[in-house]
Amino acid sequence: MYYWRKERQKYKKASNFILWGCCTILLFCSWGFFAHKKINHYAVFTLPKELAAFYKPHLSYITEHAVDPDKRRTVVLGESERHYIDLDRYGANPFPESPSWTKAMEQYSEDSLRQNGILPWQIQRSYRQLVRAFAEKDAPAILKLSADLGHYIADAHVPLHTTSNYNGKQTDQEGIHAFWESRLPEMFALRYNFVVGKARYIDDTQKEAWNIIKNTYTLVDSVLQIEKRLSGQYKQNQKYRYEKRNQQLVRAYSTAYSKAYHDALSGMVEQQMRAAIFSVGSYWYSAWVDAGQPQLTGLPIGTEIVDSIPQFSDEKKPGREEWQ
Ligand SMILES: [Zn+2]
Repeated sequence: MYYWRKERQKYKKASNFILWGCCTILLFCSWGFFAHKKINHYAVFTLPKELAAFYKPHLSYITEHAVDPDKRRTVVLGESERHYIDLDRYGANPFPESPSWTKAMEQYSEDSLRQNGILPWQIQRSYRQLVRAFAEKDAPAILKLSADLGHYIADAHVPLHTTSNYNGKQTDQEGIHAFWESRLPEMFALRYNFVVGKARYIDDTQKEAWNIIKNTYTLVDSVLQIEKRLSGQYKQNQKYRYEKRNQQLVRAYSTAYSKAYHDALSGMVEQQMRAAIFSVGSYWYSAWVDAGQPQLTGLPIGTEIVDSIPQFSDEKKPGREEWQ
């Protein structure tokens, strides 16, 4: 779950130390990273014994590297659009056929697909790569690809990753993206139940990715409308407070307002995090099964798993222009 896009331009324009609210807080505190790490971490505990025996010694790697894809967004060309899909750009009933990338390309240009985000296809792509890594018993690749796939699946469970109104700009609710996916989990996840049962085998991983995303998309209206209604009931000085972060004063949603929104969502954030954990475990498990359930114990990991984050080296940053 990430969150930059247009907000970053605002930071440059800020004329004093008071920068715009929650988005700024995320920059300093990585709220979104919190939920990603939790999801990858708990997904390991959904796995059957034989597979868990491979993952558990590398639990800290799987957890810490859950956020690699977000770190790559601004340094790898083509990474940014892997984290979302703006389904509202495709009419009232988007992608009824749950198409493969090839099928989708028959209907839309690659440019327009990439412009609106390619999350469902990225999940399938990462999945296939993971199956291959299992089949080749390539332990470092299995770990890296598992962490990446976990990230994309987690993103697919965030309603605001499925709409062009991803940060409420179209409805005068700017800041809601990080509010929902970062601040709420950070504040309330201690009370969540992350025991989600055992991973299941997924017959059709492409269709499953679409099912997840389409279900997540049905929550967009609630995410926005509930906050809109609540916002009308709070004065500005009740809705926000100022916090000092890294020597800067930033505006953030108040504790009372955050709690009210979290309560009004009736468990949605927890439900989506739980669903993400279950899905991530199920995808990992399915990849292993599809690779023929290879024996993994004792595989050499090597001295160090290569970090997948390249250094930024170009004047022009890749990704959506408005994110820079
Ligand atoms: Zn992401």
